[in-house]
Amino acid sequence: MIPKNYQPVAGLLAGRNILITGASSGLGRALCIEAARAGACVILCGRSAAKLEPVYDQIMALGAPTPAIAVLDLATATAVEYDALARVIGEEFGRLDGLVHAAGLLGDRTPLEHYDVPTWCKVLHVNLTAPFILTQVLLPALRRSADASVIFVSSGVVKQVRPFWGAYAVAKSGLEAVRGLLYEEVEGEKNIRVNSINPGRMRTAMRAAAYPAEDPNSLPTPESVSGPFLYVLSGLGSKINGQFLEAQ
Ligand code: NDP
Repeated sequence: MIPKNYQPVAGLLAGRNILITGASSGLGRALCIEAARAGACVILCGRSAAKLEPVYDQIMALGAPTPAIAVLDLATATAVEYDALARVIGEEFGRLDGLVHAAGLLGDRTPLEHYDVPTWCKVLHVNLTAPFILTQVLLPALRRSADASVIFVSSGVVKQVRPFWGAYAVAKSGLEAVRGLLYEEVEGEKNIRVNSINPGRMRTAMRAAAYPAEDPNSLPTPESVSGPFLYVLSGLGSKINGQFLEAQ
């Protein structure tokens, strides 16, 4: 579906407003920079303004469209904060053409028998409930786009049972259900596409936490897997809908 090793062309995302969570590091950060490089106006969403500012500066240094910063802690955000974000996006941007749920929390890697219940609740909230809420409040802005693309960042854990991955595996599997439900529910609207993409293993802090003995230099960088995401965010992906995709 997506050409292997797709390399974005200049201007691929020109004129598109795209909100990306997890913008402070890893995959989210790489997608923000690469989407901006491809011409998108990116809304950098993360829980720490101090961590988002260097990403903002990097995008400005590229000469790309001026990004925006949206501070939202997905573990603690209240309905008021979600509504405020949706209102500001409506007022400042009018519409949203892309939404990428890249933020994520690994949680514990331990048997269910010993899994810490508060950690379980937090991982499910950040990885599953928060993307659902954010999508819900941003649907009106997505509906105002001629071609909106929603991407849930998935994982290999949804393909087969992986013992000890606990709440992370449950949340990512649940996210696939959210992707399927949303796809069915908005299908008739034609202008909103809903997909999930498994980025595959990447050289990030999360991967290092999950596999501490692994040599990070043996892994692809998040930048190197960004092409398929940009493809699905762009008009090139206009026929891709309701799918689970692999970036590698
Ligand atoms: P990182 O740990 O590098 O990035 C995780 C991001 O999520 C950070 O920006 C972090 O913000 C953000 N985040 C965590 N908690 C919250 C919160 N409460 N509120 C807002 N933001 C939060 O991980 P990756 O880049 O590796 O992960 C990106 C996505 O890719 C995740 O969804 C992950 O599940 C998925 N993935 C990763 C793989 C890999 O090999 N790395 C493989 C398959 C899937 P902060 O910087 O403030 O901590």
